[in-house]
Amino acid sequence: MLNALDFDIIDWSNYLANIGEAKFRAKQIFNWLYKGECFDNMSNLPKKLQVKLKEEFVENPVKIYKKLISKKDGTRKYIFALSDGNIIEGVLMSYKYGNTICISTQVGCRMNCAFCASGIDGLVRNLTCGEMVGEVLAVNNDLGNGERQITNIVLMGSGEPFDNYDNVIKFINLISDENGINISKRNISLSTCGLCDKIYKLADEVGSVTLTISLHAPNDDIRNKIMPVNKAYKIEDIIKAVNYYFEKTGRRIIFEYSMIKGINDSRECAKELCRLLKGMPCHVNLINLNYVKEKGLLSSEKEPVKEFLKVLENAGISATIRRTMGSDIEGACGQLRRSILQNK
Ligand code: SAH
Repeated sequence: MLNALDFDIIDWSNYLANIGEAKFRAKQIFNWLYKGECFDNMSNLPKKLQVKLKEEFVENPVKIYKKLISKKDGTRKYIFALSDGNIIEGVLMSYKYGNTICISTQVGCRMNCAFCASGIDGLVRNLTCGEMVGEVLAVNNDLGNGERQITNIVLMGSGEPFDNYDNVIKFINLISDENGINISKRNISLSTCGLCDKIYKLADEVGSVTLTISLHAPNDDIRNKIMPVNKAYKIEDIIKAVNYYFEKTGRRIIFEYSMIKGINDSRECAKELCRLLKGMPCHVNLINLNYVKEKGLLSSEKEPVKEFLKVLENAGISATIRRTMGSDIEGACGQLRRSILQNK
């Protein structure tokens, strides 16, 4: 069976032309699918076409396998089951301005960062664009008609989006298509550990997406120790690439900086980060490290984090300490998936 969500309007038009159906039905099918409807309910399609679609396609192969709701802040963690038995995770966070979903782009990850649970067993496989769409639609469906639907998407779950570039770009185009749920590219954030050649490609081919860089260190010595990717792309390469991204798109860059006790949280590190980012149109998110027992790294204490923030602010760099959400439901990357796999 094919995943109907892997098809964009052009794929549908070609498919319809091949089976002797009118091309204008492409938009109708697409529109129904993004409302979460099944082929049986696509009331403006001929019966014969509905039957044919049902034989060949599944409307959404991504199923909610488990859902946890944080008692602290209402954040919802989802475990999704894929048609081949793999599981992935996503998180829904509700803010005043909208509902943000954090989705996975790969099963596992091959970047192997020292603090992250997703990379522990390496990469299992890439997700298709339709599986990423499936995560979003499964959650919209779970929210139902009574609740506000998803307004923002962050590609910040398990996986490295740029290691699955083509599928991720097609996903961005599908999810922002006006015939579907039409989420503006400006409301989509892509987070990367810094595969720089893809930053240039994204700037040239897509634009307007918010680019988030998982920096986590102010220099190559520290970054080499916690992020193996830094052996291929140095901090200097990242800075060049994000400057290009800003020039091309006008979008301010977001830097993620997880505070790891004794590794990257000193006053000296803060000063070095200021020198690195001075004058750049950017924002720094300081993040409390989530403890991953297989990795053993500890989060910085409250005081050094506040100190770090002060140093950045005093240097005129826009920065905030990211609110921790869903800490009671294993909100961090790859954590819940692992605990489920281990208990299976
Ligand atoms: N591969 C992409 C996106 C997925 S990771 C990237 O590297 O950006 C999403 C974010 O969570 C990254 O900033 C990552 O560094 C961070 N992260 C991973 N494990 C974490 C942990 N245990 N605590 C806090 N942040 C973590």
